[in-house]
Amino acid sequence: MNTYKNILAACSQSGAELVAVSKTKPVEQIMELYDEGQRVFGENKVQELVEKQATMPKDIKWHLIGHLQTNKVKYIAPFVDLIHAVDSLKLLKEINKQALKNDRIIDILVQIKIAEEETKFGLDKEDAIALFQSIEQEGYKHVRIRGLMGMATFTDDKAQIKSEFETMNTLFQEIKSSLDDSTSSYFTELSMGMSGDYELALQSGSTMVRIGSLLFGARNY
Ligand SMILES: *Cc1c(COP(=O)(O)O)cnc(C)c1O
Repeated sequence: MNTYKNILAACSQSGAELVAVSKTKPVEQIMELYDEGQRVFGENKVQELVEKQATMPKDIKWHLIGHLQTNKVKYIAPFVDLIHAVDSLKLLKEINKQALKNDRIIDILVQIKIAEEETKFGLDKEDAIALFQSIEQEGYKHVRIRGLMGMATFTDDKAQIKSEFETMNTLFQEIKSSLDDSTSSYFTELSMGMSGDYELALQSGSTMVRIGSLLFGARNY
């Protein structure tokens, strides 16, 4: 079995979805995975995402997995399938506005900061809960919050990674149970796990793994 098939098997055993992270990779290489049946791809830069979407088959579901600037939402709003890294009310409002303009509902995840590193984006638990409260009060009708996204600390310490993923899962359950029924029914996704730690993530309740280098090889920037 090749690597792709192995990862797919691990995902389907857990009922999780595979997002193939194609950032920096050329269209020809992405098409090889497309030809094997993969349809969900993730990019972390708006411009690259827009260029690839324009040239590649239209049945691809494109996820934006990286940090998103408010002024760039408009470029991806017509087609993006899922935005993984929403970390402010300001960004959420802009996504709602651009979704309305495009007569769409855009699915999003709220990014939680679970790693120890200072560099990672995302909200801590209190800020996330506050964000959910304002969302429920305002009712932004053109965004649908599908769940949470997070990145573990970049470390070899498996116990630490595992514990960060477990913390994410606990927070996910906690927030889900606090939401009203209609919001809660869509709140089903926990996006965590990358090439180095996706198996630990799947053990800890991940429903969506974002895998790049294991599928496409190391990236040269
Ligand atoms: C690049 C990236 C990934 C994939 O990383 P790999 O280690 O190559 O699997 C996953 N999530 C985010 C947010 C990324 O930017």
